[in-house]
Amino acid sequence: MAILKVCRLGHPALRMQSQRVSKETLASPAVQTFIDNMMETMVEYSGVGLAAPQVHESLSIAVIESRGPRGDIPMTVLVNPEVTILDESLMEDWEGCLSVPDFRGRVPRYARLRVDALDRHGNKIEVTAGNFFARVIQHEFDHLMGKVYLDRMRDFGTLTHLAEFERYWLPKERRESSSA
Ligand SMILES: [Zn+2]
Repeated sequence: MAILKVCRLGHPALRMQSQRVSKETLASPAVQTFIDNMMETMVEYSGVGLAAPQVHESLSIAVIESRGPRGDIPMTVLVNPEVTILDESLMEDWEGCLSVPDFRGRVPRYARLRVDALDRHGNKIEVTAGNFFARVIQHEFDHLMGKVYLDRMRDFGTLTHLAEFERYWLPKERRESSSA
């Protein structure tokens, strides 16, 4: 396995809509290894999510995992995800992004959603998620559509450098802050 290079804001790869992955392509050794590498890269950089465009691949694949104070999410691979919003109320909370390093900002996200996707083996899966899990899914789904969390902020008044976030804004119950 390998740690992949994460592209940062300004790289055109972050602004492209990713391509759907056929079952044949998904089954190929190259894509299976790529998914392993995405997982390893996310863990290496303490991310809670990573989307293929962040590592320069225009493929509709995202990986998500969290074991932190904001909630446990098992390792989840979403291929060709389609999101259906189940609760349109918007909840604002802090987000960070591995492609926008060392910043945090408050982003409104829908409270609850369903994802229809394929798992890494090409099986259809349906995931219903709320709160933090729903937030991470929306963040990753945005990457697959060429969007970053800055595009979703209502205003930049809360945009903060990481050191200042941890000094002034990080809630005490969340000692660890994460990016996706
Ligand atoms: Zn991100």
